[in-house]
Amino acid sequence: MERVLIKIHGIVQGVGFRPFIHKLVRYYQLSGFIKNTSSGVELELEGEKEELERFVLDVPEKAPKLAVIESVEAVYGLNTVGYTDFEIRKSKTENERNTLISPDICICDDCLAELMNPSDRRYHYPFINCTNCGPRFTIIKDIPYDRIKTSMGSFPMCPDCDREYHDIENRRYHAQPDACSVCGPHVYFKALDKEVYGDEEAIESARAEVKNGSIIAVKGLGGMHLACRLDRADELRRRKHRDEKPFAIMCRDIECAKAICEVSEDEEKILTGFRRPIVLLRKKDRKDPRLSGISENAYVGVMLPYTPLHYLLFGNDIDMLIMTSANLSDTPIMYDNNEALEKLDRIADGYLLHNRDIQTRCDDSLCWVYDGSEYFARRSRGYVPFPVKIAGEAMPELLALGAEQKASFCLSKGNYIFPCQHIGDLKNLETYEHYVSQIDHFKKLFDIYPAAVACDMHPDYMSSEYAEELNIPIYRVQHHHAHMASCMADNNLDGQVIGLIWDGTGLGTDNTIWGAECLIGGYESFEHFGSIKKIPLIGGDKATEDLERIAYILLDKHDNEIYETMLRNKINCPLSSGMGRLFDGVSAVLKIKEKAGYEGQGAVLLEAEADKNIDKCYKIAFDGNDFDWSPMMEELSKETDKAIGAAKFMNTLIEMACIQCKRAREVSGLKRVVLSGGTFQNQYIMNRLPKKLEEEGFEVYHHRRVSCNDEGISLGQICVLRSRLKLNQ
Ligand code: ZN
Ligand code: ZN
Ligand code: FE
Repeated sequence: MERVLIKIHGIVQGVGFRPFIHKLVRYYQLSGFIKNTSSGVELELEGEKEELERFVLDVPEKAPKLAVIESVEAVYGLNTVGYTDFEIRKSKTENERNTLISPDICICDDCLAELMNPSDRRYHYPFINCTNCGPRFTIIKDIPYDRIKTSMGSFPMCPDCDREYHDIENRRYHAQPDACSVCGPHVYFKALDKEVYGDEEAIESARAEVKNGSIIAVKGLGGMHLACRLDRADELRRRKHRDEKPFAIMCRDIECAKAICEVSEDEEKILTGFRRPIVLLRKKDRKDPRLSGISENAYVGVMLPYTPLHYLLFGNDIDMLIMTSANLSDTPIMYDNNEALEKLDRIADGYLLHNRDIQTRCDDSLCWVYDGSEYFARRSRGYVPFPVKIAGEAMPELLALGAEQKASFCLSKGNYIFPCQHIGDLKNLETYEHYVSQIDHFKKLFDIYPAAVACDMHPDYMSSEYAEELNIPIYRVQHHHAHMASCMADNNLDGQVIGLIWDGTGLGTDNTIWGAECLIGGYESFEHFGSIKKIPLIGGDKATEDLERIAYILLDKHDNEIYETMLRNKINCPLSSGMGRLFDGVSAVLKIKEKAGYEGQGAVLLEAEADKNIDKCYKIAFDGNDFDWSPMMEELSKETDKAIGAAKFMNTLIEMACIQCKRAREVSGLKRVVLSGGTFQNQYIMNRLPKKLEEEGFEVYHHRRVSCNDEGISLGQICVLRSRLKLNQ
């Protein structure tokens, strides 16, 4: 007989961990107790030494998939006390608010098998779930996480469900959203001429409609989708107006995805994983006519079904559908039945809805797979509200408000930082209201009372204006400094680094627009080391749509009287060193895209166009440490082949970045480089630049847990804020 004390650190509360331990204890016939601690759980067990050791090994091996085990410490050789049973002990921290809430998780294999099993009592029930799967974040109104405080509060459990809920041996033990067709929510289908009730009948109607070519609204986990056949893309675009952005598609299974896209092993792992993001996959054939209306670039966003309803909708005979967020011109995703019925009437032919309310909007996550894991363009459903854990000292309770176009915020507590889900562009009033309400929701959920707030230096951002309303100390963080700090925090770096920060726009300390910056510094401060020669944006924001205006500058033309007058008198021609703007201009010069339908379109298409087999670049010149693009443009303007021009342009930037970093290393002695900013969504650059820098002896870090674009800004802001507060102490 041996006694062991086991401390398990990590995310082990509210993820079905205690039932798991309970079963494991029973399996090895051990006795003792378990209790929650502030950083995990603590166990004391007695049993045969060999069994205890196997138990300890099993914990990280067999833990429920939502649990994140950071460490398991076991101390053997304590005096035995003779426990006779196993109990769950209340601890002091038990009364504290549970700090961690699970994201929404796709249907698990067990539930899927039951869903498709005609003899199961939940056969074809579209809301089947268990402790290991189903909705969480999107149905929670308040904590503690109990059924009554979720959207399921209005569905009292039937005796069968209740029995499962209280049976620790059952997969549904303490599964708050559990339900069956007797006690749970139901779907219905609405179209102009009919209303169909009954789960099977409603789903059958929706299937028939969508197969027929109709566009239908489908209520998902975190909001409404618009779903239709791929060949109805043009019609959907026509009804949604002016939207040139790519659509995401949902494929019935991985094989369907492989029929149209290249899918690597890593990509398959993430596509089929339990978080189910939209993964940007390379098209097998960029000119595939089936995908021509879906996305014009080399990638298509693909996800697999993640709710039971999706599986039932696809059945065995629908291979793929467009699944795009249902919203109107930049407003947040719709999530309310009545709102959808009201506002989508010109877009949707039918509505597959249900009576389980969505409490919190949460868009699909969107990522590439890079270096074996998610590389986010949008970190949202399936990930939020899991925190980003940071190393080192505990954080004070703080708030950071992000930027504007890809708004985000995060809150900190202990060693956790909680970034929000996808929000959208704050210039839209509804989006702004959603942002503000989510800040309040997160404060309540995680019991955080921020002592100070960080925001962008840009005084006109709605997020900066919101900071003023809070009556707590405000710290303004320069946009690109925040990007740099974000990538540092993402990689748990401390000290000083070289930051290569490339994006579209952010206010610089000199009141011009920055966006291709080489910085040297750390969390507390930074020095500006280099950039690119500034580009006057003729007409300001107009130039981000009419890319010819940037080409006009890059090509040093002087043949437009109006432009010349504006430039000469500096009328609405703000200076920008935005990397996004350089891409915009070059895509216009190469005649890849002259008018942008959305921000970054020129850059996305330029990347798609590039010939991957070109190593050469154009002439590289510097003015001080600023890249002077004029000699490059002189050569580029003579290029007749777009594919070669696009490749040589990006190769030039990569070379230029290497030179800049080497110079920065000479003056600073630093060899760590962090890459942040939306330009690093460019896979052509990501597949080349880090390698080149590593060949030059640099250690290169990219984003792993948050987006490199402005969505990741708030993480950086909060870390800068922490270090400033420490300095002021
Ligand atoms: Zn399940
Ligand atoms: Zn039931
Ligand atoms: Fe940015």
